Amino acid sequence: MAKTTEMMDTARAAGATDAAGATGAAASDGSSAAAGRRAAGEASEGGAWDLAEIRAQFPILSREVNGHPLAYLDNAASSQQPLRVLNRVERYLRREHANVHRGVHQLSAEATEAYEGARRSVAAHAGTTDPSEIVFTRGTTEAVNLVASSWGDAFIGAGDEIVLTKMEHHSNLVPWQLLAGRTGCDLRFVDVTPGGTLDLDDFDRLLGKRTRLVACTHVSNSLGTVNPVREVVNRAHAAGALTLIDGAQAAPHMLTDVAKTGCDFYAFSSHKMCGPTGVGALWARRELLEEMPPYQGGGEMISDVRLEGSSWAKVPHKFEAGTPNISGVVGFGEAARFLADLGPEAIAAHEGVLKRAVLDRLDEIEGLHLYGPREERTAVFSFTYGDIHPHDLSTILDQRGVAIRAGHHCNQPLMDHYGISATARASFFFYNSPREVDALCDGLALAAEVFGGIA
Ligand code: PLP
Repeated sequence: MAKTTEMMDTARAAGATDAAGATGAAASDGSSAAAGRRAAGEASEGGAWDLAEIRAQFPILSREVNGHPLAYLDNAASSQQPLRVLNRVERYLRREHANVHRGVHQLSAEATEAYEGARRSVAAHAGTTDPSEIVFTRGTTEAVNLVASSWGDAFIGAGDEIVLTKMEHHSNLVPWQLLAGRTGCDLRFVDVTPGGTLDLDDFDRLLGKRTRLVACTHVSNSLGTVNPVREVVNRAHAAGALTLIDGAQAAPHMLTDVAKTGCDFYAFSSHKMCGPTGVGALWARRELLEEMPPYQGGGEMISDVRLEGSSWAKVPHKFEAGTPNISGVVGFGEAARFLADLGPEAIAAHEGVLKRAVLDRLDEIEGLHLYGPREERTAVFSFTYGDIHPHDLSTILDQRGVAIRAGHHCNQPLMDHYGISATARASFFFYNSPREVDALCDGLALAAEVFGGIA
């Protein structure tokens, strides 16, 4: 039962301190890290990474599900929010709410400052010094749709080519299919190797004189593969194409340095990085935003409106038509500051230790097939287990309080590539503990007993 805890004790030298044990089950209301630790019966060792203290900041992690401590392993779908974000949103709603950018009264000024302050925090997270390069959207999906509609409709024509990969989330595929339907452009797809990495030779073969854009995920939401985006961007630029990187699964876990990446567009979502749902961001180079036409029309995005025609507000407001999701944006900004305070290196160190522990444990399970590479991956694990249907696995695990996801994960072409219809997916975040790795593996053992069918 405590196998992974022991393994991680050994791995602690790698830089992550684990004091969690059963903390997730025991901390009662998340208001006191010390209380959480006492209730867990474990003393924190302090130091740079105090997992008990971190977990105590997430009230939901202390609840029980089906009589068991919750082990929340569906972070690739959506992460949980810490008190800091919940409190910031509440404070905004209780004390600062008004419409932004419009009023001259005090509340409107405070709401505008909260909203634009969030833009500065999200810009810092993305690695740009220019907050006006951040456009708030409903999420990664809308950010990609914005580029496909605005940039795509303006600059793409029949016969032009857009290169995607076979591991794209539907959000970075369907908007391009719609654009192809409107313009007659062609879509090309980079192959995925059996090991779950991009086939860069195939990529080189697909790049050509007609390639206008390469749109590629930074991290695969099914395989956990961390793609070599710098290399992808360099090769695309050498072919004269622009690049869009889908950062939905990268922004929560690693430094998102758009300048270092060298890409032209980068999309990410708040709710996968400890922020509220229904909000996200598009980062784009300023010159591109300047030359792109508006995405939607309405209030906020205009400079001057006459019956005969209108002119547009400056970037980024040109792309933010209508009253935005102000409280969501405020929470998004707080989440970005929260992650910055934890430190991307510390987050990566703890997740790295969890990742190695999970890989070692899953390796020991006969009949379990894990998809994706061993190196250059995040702590997202898609697998099949004997003949047990992923939904059955998920149901058994849920009875033990372990939340994983089963299905195609919005990656149907990738599932087709592997000749399967679904996988089970356990995805970890910095607040997960070794006890939760044990809970996952114990639940899998139970599923094998209940269903049999393990080859
Ligand atoms: N891209 C990737 C890689 C994802 O994992 C997801 C969500 O799971 C998305 C895009 C879509 O994100 P959202 O639903 O927040 O728009």
